[in-house]
Amino acid sequence: MSNACAHHDHHHALAADTKSQRLAEAETLCAQAGERMTSSRLRTYELILEASGPIKAYDVIDRFHPQGAAKPPTVYRALSFLEQMGLIHRIESLNAFVACDTRDHPHAAGFLLCDCCGQSVEFAIPNVADIEVSATNSHFQIKHITLEARGLCGACRGHA
Ligand SMILES: [Zn+2]
Ligand SMILES: [Zn+2]
Ligand SMILES: [Zn+2]
Repeated sequence: MSNACAHHDHHHALAADTKSQRLAEAETLCAQAGERMTSSRLRTYELILEASGPIKAYDVIDRFHPQGAAKPPTVYRALSFLEQMGLIHRIESLNAFVACDTRDHPHAAGFLLCDCCGQSVEFAIPNVADIEVSATNSHFQIKHITLEARGLCGACRGHA
């Protein structure tokens, strides 16, 4: 969380049963793709699921072991793997990561970002096919589409 908003506490950390379900689904997804969900990949994903909002790489590194930080390259490699698998998204404007909210992996995602509490809400970017047609017409190869809206979430609008 980038901003310590003292007016409220509306955290959306996942319930324990939801988290273990998401971890199991991630292992299945990797197995189906012929990839290995190593312990460091799984731990990185778990920390992102546990975070109450978008989490930065150095916070994942810090929280990795109960007794101390992880080696940064381990976490950076795990983050890039999880992003490729579509299990997490990188929010460019925050340089932070969130777990994907859908079962549709991988896909282009947009985000509503609260400037007050730092929460994010994922949404499907509309008309991706239209963007792809424009790109094709321009002989442009898209690597990544970003759509990030900044503002105030419902809870923060109440006290702002
Ligand atoms: Zn997603
Ligand atoms: Zn908010
Ligand atoms: Zn707030």
